Amino acid sequence: MNSSTIRFKPIIGLEVHIELKTKSKMFCGCSAQYFGKPPNTLVCPVCLGLPGALPYPNQKAIEATIKLGLALNCQPALFSKFDRKNYFYPDLPKGYQISQYDLPLNKNGEFELLERKKKIRIRRVHLEEDTGKLIHQKIGQESCSLIDFNRSGVPLVEIVTEPDFNDSQEIQEFLKSLQQLVRWLEIADADMEKGQMRCEPTVNLEVIKNGKKLYTPLVELKNINSFSFVKKAIDYEIERQKKEFLKTGETKKPGNKTTRGWDEKRKITVLQREKEEASDYRYFPEPDIPPIRFNKEEIEKIKKLLPELPQEKRKKFVEVYHLSDYAARILTAEKFTADYFEETTKLAKKEIKLQEIANVIINKKVDIKKVSPGQLIKQLQRQKSKKKITIKKEELEKIINQVLEENQKAVADFKKGKINAIQFLIGQIMAKTKGQANPKQIEEEIKKKLKN
Ligand code: ZN
Ligand code: MN
Repeated sequence: MNSSTIRFKPIIGLEVHIELKTKSKMFCGCSAQYFGKPPNTLVCPVCLGLPGALPYPNQKAIEATIKLGLALNCQPALFSKFDRKNYFYPDLPKGYQISQYDLPLNKNGEFELLERKKKIRIRRVHLEEDTGKLIHQKIGQESCSLIDFNRSGVPLVEIVTEPDFNDSQEIQEFLKSLQQLVRWLEIADADMEKGQMRCEPTVNLEVIKNGKKLYTPLVELKNINSFSFVKKAIDYEIERQKKEFLKTGETKKPGNKTTRGWDEKRKITVLQREKEEASDYRYFPEPDIPPIRFNKEEIEKIKKLLPELPQEKRKKFVEVYHLSDYAARILTAEKFTADYFEETTKLAKKEIKLQEIANVIINKKVDIKKVSPGQLIKQLQRQKSKKKITIKKEELEKIINQVLEENQKAVADFKKGKINAIQFLIGQIMAKTKGQANPKQIEEEIKKKLKN
């Protein structure tokens, strides 16, 4: 095939799973803080899926999911329910995952990529439970698969976007912004290295060939757990699909979606399996949990709990405080820093420019975890006054001469080698200048004079 008449446009959608940092698990009272805990110590009949055990939903997790939905401009559902997603895998003790199918907690949102200046539609934000964890290792001569159920039943929020991304950079920006957002809302830590945030991009290409639009088969990239792997896997997959299309001309049709994983050693994506369709999961309503109902007032109440969001803050820092775009971005990377900056600006008098405060924080001239906004303002004011009322050179000279004249004994002591004597002289001079001179400079002046 002649590639010169063909144009490719990548189309990428995203599913992101984020563990909520609630105290307890999604459907039982076990601790959800499983990181670093000995295996199978945070378990009970519910999260082990023992027969007859009954789940009861975690209200805090539901509220956190609504909060995230609102922050992503979704419409929270007034009526929602849990469903069973059936599949067999050793890390899933019940043989099904409690998830949400047709009535998720949030639908139809959108999120702006500020760098790209582009809006991404959010299809849904729903709540489910995490699975246990398989650990493959050798014990003696034998290769074993061990299972730790501490993670089983940890609340997991799933964010699904529409296929609105066109390259891996947009995906990276979205993921970083999403991570920032859930941390800002204090509902998750979303540390990718710890597996608290995992993502699955679905990639294919729009092919324009002789004015006709075709689509390459969908590929879902599974369980990617680092920002750099996401980029590498997507970039690789885009090129692979181009080559594949030029070779085979195969297009997307029902049933030819596949799943691939990222192999970091070989730097390629690897075919894992043919993808199940939703019908393979035999979804049905979870009979042990009644539907979740909210009224509008309750949703309004949750909305009021939301802090000013990072994107709003960033825009405000530019438009209201007239900071540079760069400064606004850095200062709103974390909520603590943004709040600290605003707190400080409230205390600042006219002579201190807001960009000055911003610079001090950005350049880490001050440890904002230790120095309070009030203390920082005092520091800045002190520096200001030092700069403003420095004493004139001739005047300082006069004072130094006067002090040396009046303190002959100290001068003699210094000449004899008593180093402390000079401190006394500096003190006298500083007092006479009312602290407007620089002690280092005074010391040099005295030494120069007494040498002769
Ligand atoms: Zn449990
Ligand atoms: Mn899921």
